[in-house]
Amino acid sequence: MTEPTPIAIVGAAGRMGTSLLEEAARRPDLRVVAAVVTPEWTGPDHLGPDQVPVFRSIPDLDEAAPRVVIDFTSPAAAIQVARFCAGTHRALVSGTTGLDDADLQELRRCAASAPTVWASNFSVGVNLLEALVEQATAAFGPEAEVEIFEAHHRHKVDAPSGTALTLGHAVARARGTSLESIARFTRQGHAGPRDPAEVGFQVLRGGDIVGEHSVWFCAHGERLELSHRATDRGIFARGALRAARWAASASPGFYSMRDVLSGPSTPAPASS
Ligand code: NAD
Repeated sequence: MTEPTPIAIVGAAGRMGTSLLEEAARRPDLRVVAAVVTPEWTGPDHLGPDQVPVFRSIPDLDEAAPRVVIDFTSPAAAIQVARFCAGTHRALVSGTTGLDDADLQELRRCAASAPTVWASNFSVGVNLLEALVEQATAAFGPEAEVEIFEAHHRHKVDAPSGTALTLGHAVARARGTSLESIARFTRQGHAGPRDPAEVGFQVLRGGDIVGEHSVWFCAHGERLELSHRATDRGIFARGALRAARWAASASPGFYSMRDVLSGPSTPAPASS
């Protein structure tokens, strides 16, 4: 039997970190060797069903020798993790959202030294939704006006969600333009008539909603609604663990969840 792949989880005490520790404990092919929390952590020294040792800083991770680092934290921490992975040639799977263009550029720069999978949503369903949105946008052409709706729990800090923006990028890609030039984030007061080219974003926050996304294609005489509802955070954790297994044998590069779902990774050359 092959040895399980050693992985580290950064943000281990958070909502996603907790779910990752639970899901990883069910997989014989992965072994969590480090649970990384902030230096201010005053909780226990071991976390999750497998009682994984707690580390209070990212550089200390080196000691645990993970092959893949999984990050679900904040933009500042995600960049720190990406630099650590690039410097130590460890694979990275990051699901942190709220990254700006400069952050994403830095993630891509680091990916030249370490295989990096970044996805604003690790669920299989949402990645299928992205492909369907691209297909529907191309099929409707200028006939349909597109609106994107998302809803999340009260603790979420960024808006619109990274997934809503990813879906917006899919619309822009199908139209051969950039999301920046067509996104409409607010409508208030005398907002004027709708520009047929714009893509509107609607955001709802409340309670414990795990994540809901709908894309409406509003044409004359018909409307297509493509929707995804997450009811259990475990779907993101399971997707991220699947990505970790994939990234463990991938060559350096910047990858999406769609790469992971499309089949086995191209292994790094034996000399690297
Ligand atoms: P959370 O606030 O519950 O957890 C984040 C954790 O990261 C916290 O415990 C925080 O203390 C920790 N953290 C911050 N900086 C750190 C550092 N330098 N070192 C170690 N730990 C650090 O948030 P969450 O709901 O778990 O979400 C985390 C991120 O993941 C958010 O950006 C969220 O939008 C994103 N998310 C992505 C997906 C996806 O599929 N891509 C799914 C859910 C959430």
